[in-house]
Amino acid sequence: MKEIVVSGIRPTGKLHLGNYFGAFKNFLTLQEEFNSYFFIADYHSLTTHPTQSDMAGSVKRVLAEYIALGLDPEKCTIYIQSDLPETAELYLMLNMNAYLGELERVTSFKDKVRSQPNNINAGLLTYPVLMAADILIHKGVKVPVGKDQEQHLEMARTFGNRFNRLYQTDIFPEPQAFSAGKELVKVPGLTGGGKMSKSAGDADTIYLDESAETLKKKIMRAVSDSGPTVPGAPKSQPVQNLFDLMSLVCKTETIEFFDQEHKNGSIRYGDLKKQLAADMENFIAPLREKIQDTLNNEKRLDEIAKFGAEKARKNARETMNAVREAVGFKKN
Ligand code: AMP
Repeated sequence: MKEIVVSGIRPTGKLHLGNYFGAFKNFLTLQEEFNSYFFIADYHSLTTHPTQSDMAGSVKRVLAEYIALGLDPEKCTIYIQSDLPETAELYLMLNMNAYLGELERVTSFKDKVRSQPNNINAGLLTYPVLMAADILIHKGVKVPVGKDQEQHLEMARTFGNRFNRLYQTDIFPEPQAFSAGKELVKVPGLTGGGKMSKSAGDADTIYLDESAETLKKKIMRAVSDSGPTVPGAPKSQPVQNLFDLMSLVCKTETIEFFDQEHKNGSIRYGDLKKQLAADMENFIAPLREKIQDTLNNEKRLDEIAKFGAEKARKNARETMNAVREAVGFKKN
């Protein structure tokens, strides 16, 4: 039997090139190789934004983008977290054995206490418990997370093990962090800094449904430098960023050509950007069209969400029945 993988996706607006190459391509591999569950973490998003103006729209947008980009509802289970009441029930049960001291020590909680002092709600404190419920509800064993999530995952193991011990059962396996991405890359932004990031502003990011016009404008305005001072001078960070972006969408010959021009000291960044913009447009155009088509087909999206929820609930009900029985409640 294929191992169970669980991964959450926050409904935080449009996907950009960094999300695609840095995370999403991983999902495409996972759905082929594992029994994968991808959920849209709408409950989680309430911990920081309890009154969102368009929750339904944001959730739909994420679902549409993931489907358009290649997640296949037949190959994986893609569902909306709040469509699975079993997760909320397991969260409640796990909360009974999660201690204030251990929750208060979580780094991400401490960060939030500093960054949003006016909204330290109990949901924020128990975020790791909800995350544990998301994983344990499917008896997930592999969780594709970054370093920043290691502590949460450790807690998921703690809560699962504690439940097993308290109720003398072996319902929950231990979830482990893993990285399936051999080729995962860090995508730089257009403003000369480090990672492409929404928080660095619109000018930094290339969205996967960027219009041809905006795409060109953004790339032509990307930060570079005033040119190599002497032939053979190393590339500055902003220029290296442009080369890194080229490596995602341009032919090797194109990159080699501009690399040589840089080495010679004769490079014209305007030409490089024009070429990058053209190749990026070739990459983005089909994605843009697919995302729009998928978003326009509301009926199909509703069907996909319903289908995913049914698939996920089948599994979740079994887990919850075992949990209820272990605790001494009647089965549902
Ligand atoms: P975020 O919405 O910024 O939390 O990103 C969601 C996922 O995309 C995370 O797994 C990030 O690691 C990944 N990601 C975001 N930005 C980049 C980037 N510039 N390069 C590579 N991966 C990224």
